[in-house]
Amino acid sequence: MKLHEYQSKRLFAEHGVPIPNGEIATTPEEARIIAEKLGGAVVVKSQVLVGGRGKAGGIKLAKNPAEAQILAEKILNLEIKGLPVRKVLVDEAADIQTEIYLGITNDRAAKKPVFMASAAGGVDIEEVAATTPEKIIKIHIDPLLGLQDFQVLNLAVGIEMPRDLWDQFNTVAHGLWQAYKSFDATLAEINPLIITGDNRLIAVDGKMIIDDNALFRHPDLESHRDLDVEDASETEAKEHGLTYIKLEGEIGCMVNGAGLAMATMDIIKFFGGEPANFLDIGGGADEQKVAAALRIILKDPNVKAVLINIFGGITRGDLVAKGILAALEEVKPTIPMVVRLVGTNAEEGRELLANADMITAETLADAAQKAVAAARGGN
Ligand code: GDP
Ligand code: MN
Repeated sequence: MKLHEYQSKRLFAEHGVPIPNGEIATTPEEARIIAEKLGGAVVVKSQVLVGGRGKAGGIKLAKNPAEAQILAEKILNLEIKGLPVRKVLVDEAADIQTEIYLGITNDRAAKKPVFMASAAGGVDIEEVAATTPEKIIKIHIDPLLGLQDFQVLNLAVGIEMPRDLWDQFNTVAHGLWQAYKSFDATLAEINPLIITGDNRLIAVDGKMIIDDNALFRHPDLESHRDLDVEDASETEAKEHGLTYIKLEGEIGCMVNGAGLAMATMDIIKFFGGEPANFLDIGGGADEQKVAAALRIILKDPNVKAVLINIFGGITRGDLVAKGILAALEEVKPTIPMVVRLVGTNAEEGRELLANADMITAETLADAAQKAVAAARGGN
């Protein structure tokens, strides 16, 4: 789950990282009121979960509250890379002398988090990595020992941080690491961390990605979810306890078990088709789950045929069949459906489906071939 700039910065601040004073506005008037409270110049920043906000006109400096209102109105009407701007962050404008990059992410190859720092901050770090990789200092963190002071010192020296700022830098680096660790992040980034004219370090931008598999440990972060960036079908699937990932093909798949789902996708490709999705309804799926799954598959306009491949173990064939019938009743699909049902109560399931308008298949190969043919318009 990606967090917005203002959310990330607040989590960093909880761990001692200095951030600018500021608040969130959803209307131009609110932006003006916040700017009045802050006094002086402010920066109005669109809160959307994509990069390159500045270039898209989503970050503007305002000299006074009236200007903040006008700019907020403009920014709130923007769409940045297809995403609507629903909120702006109004922050005290910072006196930026230097921009530094700091980021922590998982280095899968090293099996450790890696702390990256660069004096070339503010700009796109991927570009720095591609053109001048020597400008990025990397230090791996032992997850059991945590970030050590000597490592922070190595980073500070590596990016030529002035000696009188080392104490502040130590606080920021440890704060970022603590935020990364305690919120189970896969990315925690400050770009830029600035040095101000009066020699203070402030995080003016923040970015965090939380590991979805750890979200159950952070129920308080649930309210941070931004549905604008999530695929609506994937969100609906999650609500029903289904694992659904949309793909680009034309054959919708409903399968129980991740391994079988992958095998089903492979065999569809083997026979010349392309799966429209990965969908695992899980073990012991009941009628409601099956109906929800089918509804989600049929919502995808690319789907030209559906392949239902159920291997009944804990999952019972008759319940799956009832779910299919309930969903058919509800959505009345016009596209061909191929079903292969084996295992527990498969016989009962097939009987239930006998009168439904479906193509039945005995083996997986047979089912896949029939689905590919059906998607192409022949049966
Ligand atoms: P991003 O483009 O989405 O990464 O947004 P950032 O928050 O990183 O802002 C982009 C750039 O705008 C920064 O690198 C700064 O150069 C500039 N900027 C952001 N906030 C301020 C501010 O308060 N004052 C000034 N002068 N510049 C700012
Ligand atoms: Mn940035």
